[in-house]
Amino acid sequence: MSYFVTHDDYRRPDLRYNCVIFEIQGCFMDFFPVFMNIRQQRCLVVGGGEVALRKIELLLKAGGDVLVVSPDLHPDLEKHVSEKSIKHHARIFEAGDIQGSKLIISATNDSTINKNVSELANQAGIPVNVVDAPDLCSFIVPSIIDRSPVVVAVSSGGRSPVLARLLRAKLETMIPASYGRLANLLDEYRDKVKAAFSNTLQRRRFWEIIIQGPVTELMFSGRENQAKEVLEKAIDKGEAAIEGPGEVYLVGAGPGDPDLLTFRALRLLQQADVVVYDRLVSAPILELARRDAEKIYVGKKNREHTLPQEGINQLLLKLAKEGKRVLRLKGGDPFIFGRGGEEIETLLEDGISFQVVPGVTAAAGCASYSGIPLTHRDHAQSVVFATGHLKDNTINLNWPALAQPNQTVVFYMGLTGLSVICQKLIEHGMPEDTAIALVEQGTTVNQKVYTATLSTLPERVKEIDVKPPTLIIVGSVVTLHEKLSWFEPTGSQE
Ligand code: SAH
Repeated sequence: MSYFVTHDDYRRPDLRYNCVIFEIQGCFMDFFPVFMNIRQQRCLVVGGGEVALRKIELLLKAGGDVLVVSPDLHPDLEKHVSEKSIKHHARIFEAGDIQGSKLIISATNDSTINKNVSELANQAGIPVNVVDAPDLCSFIVPSIIDRSPVVVAVSSGGRSPVLARLLRAKLETMIPASYGRLANLLDEYRDKVKAAFSNTLQRRRFWEIIIQGPVTELMFSGRENQAKEVLEKAIDKGEAAIEGPGEVYLVGAGPGDPDLLTFRALRLLQQADVVVYDRLVSAPILELARRDAEKIYVGKKNREHTLPQEGINQLLLKLAKEGKRVLRLKGGDPFIFGRGGEEIETLLEDGISFQVVPGVTAAAGCASYSGIPLTHRDHAQSVVFATGHLKDNTINLNWPALAQPNQTVVFYMGLTGLSVICQKLIEHGMPEDTAIALVEQGTTVNQKVYTATLSTLPERVKEIDVKPPTLIIVGSVVTLHEKLSWFEPTGSQE
């Protein structure tokens, strides 16, 4: 029994047995994956519609010299012609057009022309792609994740472009946007590293450690100069693993729904050694942390501090000094009523490196999920975020400024002081019947929205069992809630 079967044999029933063995072993690929240099090479595109446009834009990105043959052109392609970035023959395809082409793409909606182009190209030995006709293709164009110079290509062998596209979307979320810049930086230092390590194995090991170490994180968070410093130090020392203090990531976890995390927050959650988190961080978000990461709770409850702020600042410092990658996870955004500023000031004094990752703040999250736009042409031209935290039974705020018309005011930490808030706003000229909303556990499966007026909400709230956290939104935008509400929390219903 021969195991040397060709791809065509695979389609022969009498040889299927052999082929099944090969298939199990994963021997067959429908296409051989390559990346082709088409810089300044003639690329012929037959057809001038929208599909052709998409392919042409890709060809131009790779530096191809594009000739389009088509009686009509998409307006964007006309623009390319007038800017001389592509050439155009305004007529039906002719056999002679293929001459001198490095590759050919046929994107017409005329199957006879497509077939003709494919046959002629194959006879001339020129790679050809016919859009949406895998049988007529000698090459296919994969879905790509472009982080040039790094490019990831995904193909389903023409079997399900949608599947390839969805896989591509998944990969897009996993590969940081600055991957390309990282590749360029590593390229810049290639010669220096070659000179420092003549041994290939040592060199490969060096790069592996560097790429999985702080240089990458520094590049991803936009600190190129620091990345270079670390890399240069490692080259001078002849060793990639430089011992030193760890780093702190001050990360906003958003208001509760884990889907509202940023890509960066997720990536850092999966690489941190320790996660120091607050009460406001929801359980599903914490579950996204690396399984073996240490998790330290430093949450505060109203008036009852589990760990005072200074203690948290010192804890972060201590962990970072132990060389750990510490993720300080805070509800919402770390710089909005989050005391994030104080935490990193302490780190700064000790020269600990840090980065800050914004999160969706409660105001934005609660507003969206309760259908209350914070600004609106007909209602509010500005929005103010204020703290409603009571101190000695009063709230020290600029009430006249808050009571202005055509403005939305959002109070964080305002539940205990709700009566004071309503009373002060009325005292400073806000009409008693101004709409006000209390959003409980916004964006979570337990979200509840109570709406009333400045004069009625304090009484109404006394009748219900409110569970923190809650956010208060004041202004006529609240009247839109009834119409624009869309989110259906699946948790405990009223
Ligand atoms: N840094 C956070 C705010 C911390 S202050 C942010 O940017 O959102 C804590 C207050 O935020 C709470 O008292 C409450 O008013 C508000 N808050 C946070 N998450 C909330 C949520 N899911 N629903 C309602 N209010 C929330």
